[in-house]
Amino acid sequence: VSWVKSDDRLDDTKKIKRAWRKHRATVGLHAMSKTYSARHETDGLIDLDWIEEKLPDDDERAEVLAVMLAERLYEELPSGETKRITVRGMRITYGPHDETSYIVHDYLEFNEAKCEAEDRRRKEAERKAAARARKSGGSPPGQPSDNSGTDAGLQEVSALSRPDPTRPDPTRPLMPPNPPPSGGRKRDRDRWESELASWLAANPVTDELAERWADVVAELREAVDESTFKIHLSALHLHLDGEEMVVGAQRSAKSWIRDRFGRVLDSCAGKPVQLVPCDCQKIEAVA
Ligand SMILES: [Zn+2]
Repeated sequence: VSWVKSDDRLDDTKKIKRAWRKHRATVGLHAMSKTYSARHETDGLIDLDWIEEKLPDDDERAEVLAVMLAERLYEELPSGETKRITVRGMRITYGPHDETSYIVHDYLEFNEAKCEAEDRRRKEAERKAAARARKSGGSPPGQPSDNSGTDAGLQEVSALSRPDPTRPDPTRPLMPPNPPPSGGRKRDRDRWESELASWLAANPVTDELAERWADVVAELREAVDESTFKIHLSALHLHLDGEEMVVGAQRSAKSWIRDRFGRVLDSCAGKPVQLVPCDCQKIEAVA
């Protein structure tokens, strides 16, 4: 069993309330679309056959789809067309398909993409294979066993007891909070900003992080010209280094940097970089 994430304010968002009022089936279709997509790793893509199976009545299906599109629960992908999005530094392409299909709006904002899942599984398999290799290649008889044998054993145990990585762990808020849905209310935005502020306070920029970031900066300076780096990228700083790097960017420049330097940041970091709006560091011109 894998897990699908949902915004915990979903029932309180305007678009869900409006969709619910207009046609009750929309909210159920939306929820089922997300679990379907997670199970089959479609990155939020829903084909018409599946919708027809859920809503066989032509008139009802047309009504429900109209509301889904009007409230942006779905985005339409017309037959023959492609749609490209960028999320966490990855370029995702949908289509082209023979029939019109639909994409669950913002699915990948909250959920793992297929390429991320594949990457995660590959790394897990490699880790387990490495642990097995260490274990089977243990010390020959008569010689004192070295530490690596013990480590491998421990790793195997911890790999077994580790929870499914896609499962949200409420006790460990590793990643900053998801931003409120677009078109969200001021109240949602305020709440998110205060959650983000406490997350940033809990994940201060340590010396160790600053050092790791310096390595990325060295790559970055090779990749862009010096003045671009000084003007636009010198205020970036690392808050968290895990499967992704969470990097603080000036509030005013965050989206702009993501659009223009997203790919180069990911490639210099060697992993997806998530930018969070953060002015916690003074911006100093690089000498
Ligand atoms: Zn910061």
